[in-house]
Amino acid sequence: MWQKTFEVSKTLKVWSQLKVNFVSMSDRVRNIAILGSTGSIGRSTLDVVAASPERFRVIGLTARSRLAQLCDQANQFRPHWIVAADAAHASGFEWSEKPSGAELLLGTDGIRSLVSRAEVDIVVAAIVGSAGLTGTWAALEAGKTVALANKETLVMAGRQVMRLAEDRGAKILPVDSEHSAVFQAMEAGRRRDVKRVILTASGGPFRRHTSAQLAQVSVDEALAHPTWEMGPKITVDSATMMNKALEIIEARWLFNLEPDQIDVVVHPQSIVHSFVEFCDGSVLAQLSPPDMKLPIQYALTYPERCECPSPKLDLAAAMRLEFEPPDLDRFPAIGLGHEVARVGGTAGAVLNAANEAAVGGFLEGHLSFTEIVPACRSVLDNHHFDDNPTLERLIELDAWAREEVTRWVCT
Ligand code: NDP
Ligand code: MG
Repeated sequence: MWQKTFEVSKTLKVWSQLKVNFVSMSDRVRNIAILGSTGSIGRSTLDVVAASPERFRVIGLTARSRLAQLCDQANQFRPHWIVAADAAHASGFEWSEKPSGAELLLGTDGIRSLVSRAEVDIVVAAIVGSAGLTGTWAALEAGKTVALANKETLVMAGRQVMRLAEDRGAKILPVDSEHSAVFQAMEAGRRRDVKRVILTASGGPFRRHTSAQLAQVSVDEALAHPTWEMGPKITVDSATMMNKALEIIEARWLFNLEPDQIDVVVHPQSIVHSFVEFCDGSVLAQLSPPDMKLPIQYALTYPERCECPSPKLDLAAAMRLEFEPPDLDRFPAIGLGHEVARVGGTAGAVLNAANEAAVGGFLEGHLSFTEIVPACRSVLDNHHFDDNPTLERLIELDAWAREEVTRWVCT
């Protein structure tokens, strides 16, 4: 009997110690490095940090061209390190406003050095495009938790990135609102009981445009998103619905889903951020007004939750939630997304780079809106597919696909 009592009290002691450790871990201020702090996600992350200074401390910031804004952010948040990612921009900049306590690092080496510092707990990967891969890769290599906004990293090298995270015991937490919604809904059940996920899409500004109208849209119209405020590249991606194609591929790798387990539904209000259907037919969703601060904060506080500076749903007010299937003829990018998710290999890197180059071409007036997706299709069809490429091969193909788009534009 005494032995049993001893065992119980020993167990209780271990539990109480675990609890103390757990509380102290979760109460500790989390040190955050934000890659791409001058962008839309970067600025929203700073809003989240500013609202909960007792939880978060910014210790690193990076920017490419908006260096005056980087200095303003550094003066407000007092990080240990700031990185000017592009040496040419950095050398032409007058650094008199840089706070003296912040060490200036340069280039991609600077980003690599920042994310691997022992003091960094969480890296927010919010650089746009495949340029975001280096920092995300280095952070995972250093075993850090990555709050991932930069979906292009997974589109380009999903298999390699997920393998690296597993090898290094690093966590990837989604920031993309749909993937955050899926991640949150999946918490309600067992992973093996997930039947499929349904990503919601706003449909962008041209949801009701005919094919003839789509051929005429201007850059300004494509940059005017009806529900989300985002950087220019992802805003154009939303208008072509290439963003959803990239998100299908992102979900495939992030949640280890078969591509035919991922569906898309158009939901113009952007209140339901995605659904998860379980094997018993139960469908769970995550709802909130369209604002990135909530998914960003969830990635930073996970597995906890706390008050968030984002707008709240008013369920007492009249509200209409609509859902309709996407039009795959007017928006062929979605089919491309499923196809690339299915074949894997080098296809993601080629699609991603071709799209970045084509969107750049559209923004500079070299390509019409309806030429973006055919340009991607053409480059994809012309590449030498490899089922199991190295990271170096993917980086080579990224450069090749960009050149191909330039050739496509010129012919
Ligand atoms: P922005 O264009 O607003 O910001 C991009 C950031 O990346 C800026 O800080 C920019 O610096 C920096 N940057 C750009 N090019 C380079 C480069 N070559 N090297 C280093 N840094 C660079 O983009 P968003 O914030 O909209 O998007 C960021 C990422 O998050 C994208 O991958 C996007 O798909 C994803 N995402 C965004 C959402 C949103 O609501 N905005 C929603 C879901 C995902 P600077 O400005 O100083 O030149
Ligand atoms: Mg999204």
